[in-house]
Amino acid sequence: MKCVICKHGELKPGISSVMFERENATIVIKEVPMDICDNCGEKYIPDKIAEQIMLLVESVKSQGIIVDVRNFNSEPLATC
Ligand SMILES: [Zn+2]
Repeated sequence: MKCVICKHGELKPGISSVMFERENATIVIKEVPMDICDNCGEKYIPDKIAEQIMLLVESVKSQGIIVDVRNFNSEPLATC
């Protein structure tokens, strides 16, 4: 699959972090599987993964957590 941003790069499966800021909560999710452009580095998160991330973000928010860093598919690494 070609990158739609730079139109030259190829998307390669990779692992990266995603950061969300929602209202006053900051949530960092590490080791998220996604496709990454080998030319410009644009990240493409598959719909299925994005759905899981949104669920994670909602559950963190509902617990009233302000800052959260965790691995995708695992327990929280650190919670303040
Ligand atoms: Zn690209």
